[in-house]
Amino acid sequence: MIQITDHLGQIRARVTQALNASGRSDDDITIVAVSKQQSTESIRELFASGITDFGESYVDEALPKLAALQDLDIVWHFIGRIQGNKTRHIAEQFDWVHSLDRDRIARRLDAQRPYHAPPLNVLIQVNPADEPQKGGVGPADVAELVSLVCNLPKLRYRGLMGIPPAGMSRSGLHEFFAGIRAVRDELSHSGMRGDTLSMGMSGDFETALAEGSNCVRIGTALFGPRTS
Ligand SMILES: *Cc1c(COP(=O)(O)O)cnc(C)c1O
Repeated sequence: MIQITDHLGQIRARVTQALNASGRSDDDITIVAVSKQQSTESIRELFASGITDFGESYVDEALPKLAALQDLDIVWHFIGRIQGNKTRHIAEQFDWVHSLDRDRIARRLDAQRPYHAPPLNVLIQVNPADEPQKGGVGPADVAELVSLVCNLPKLRYRGLMGIPPAGMSRSGLHEFFAGIRAVRDELSHSGMRGDTLSMGMSGDFETALAEGSNCVRIGTALFGPRTS
């Protein structure tokens, strides 16, 4: 348990260092603690240390955890592949979605978001490498989906998310993250303003921060290995 708090201290120090190194020391960074396959005890421990944002990838796994942690004021992020038959749970129980990549899912989330709830914060997952097995929209199709999200009343477009292909070189990672930032900036210039870039995980968050990320999704470097 002491370990998790230690890990958090180390991550915060590394975030600060990466921001200083790229002249961004005044920027606010959200650390989303990725709690998939981690216990509710560990989540409580991190929350007590000041982390308020948690990310889950699987609806079936997340629902009992969200229920067990209802007493905490947690901001929940859905970061996994979105199955069409699971959208209602996401629309009802999450605050953010990082992985939107289809029109049909956007319309469902909008229709299923409870009317008394604030709009669901949405990031579009971009797949610049066009890896077929991975989620995400190709850069050429992002604008159309963002435009749809901007027009759906119960969704709020916030920006873009990206997951680099495994095994990328450091320079490849820089290029990958910079590419997503460029797409976000282009959209902003054409009036679709997004304030969030969700880029960077345990192994590459410093590179992502150097390329403009302001939201890092960190699992194993905080919690330790996942217990699958
Ligand atoms: C699991 C996961 C993470 C966290 O990965 P770590 O390498 O454990 O930090 C971040 N983002 C997404 C989309 C994930 O699925």
